[in-house]
Amino acid sequence: MIKGLIFDLDGVIVNTDTYHYEAWKSVANKYSIQIDKSINENLKGLSRRDSWNLIMEIGNIQLSDEETNIVLETKNNLYRKKLKNLSSDNLLLGVENFLQELNHKEFKLAIGSSSRNAKDILNYLNLSSYFDSIIDGSMVKKLKPSPDIFIKAAKNLGLKPIHCIVFEDSLSGVKAAKDGGFKVISVGNKELLDVADYHIDNFLDFKLDQYATVS
Ligand SMILES: [Mg+2]
Repeated sequence: MIKGLIFDLDGVIVNTDTYHYEAWKSVANKYSIQIDKSINENLKGLSRRDSWNLIMEIGNIQLSDEETNIVLETKNNLYRKKLKNLSSDNLLLGVENFLQELNHKEFKLAIGSSSRNAKDILNYLNLSSYFDSIIDGSMVKKLKPSPDIFIKAAKNLGLKPIHCIVFEDSLSGVKAAKDGGFKVISVGNKELLDVADYHIDNFLDFKLDQYATVS
């Protein structure tokens, strides 16, 4: 019996992906590291620090902790500046309708996102009121692929993982949810089809009972 829905934010509710991409490109450029879309794909779901570690690995460079911290802050500032341009154009297809039409007495909703900017992003998009709980990366010790974010979200909803579906677009997120004992619907990325319980390209025409019939 599903009673809770937990959503990753980036790539599931909203695409701020191009903003991350542009911001990473710009900081990596200063160190003559070229980032392309396939590299960007590997950054999805990673923390800011882990993303930069991967970029440094690709560029074969090493920075002092101090310089690394400056890079991380610069990237976040660039990204946050871009977030102010967010509008409904950045939402995943059909997601607002899906949130609107859910029976909010039947289901509790949470966000489980590694992004420390999650609350700001939801506010910019006027979506905060749909969610009973918003868990971001600053509220847990271990980020995805650890299940901590989703477990905390379920706990805040007063539900057991087995009674919740997690919506995820990254491999680390799908793994995190599976490890935590959640049902998982993968969103967008077809490569996750095999690891998730169910897959949707986006929320257009998606109804929860579609999932219930196959689960
Ligand atoms: Mg994501």
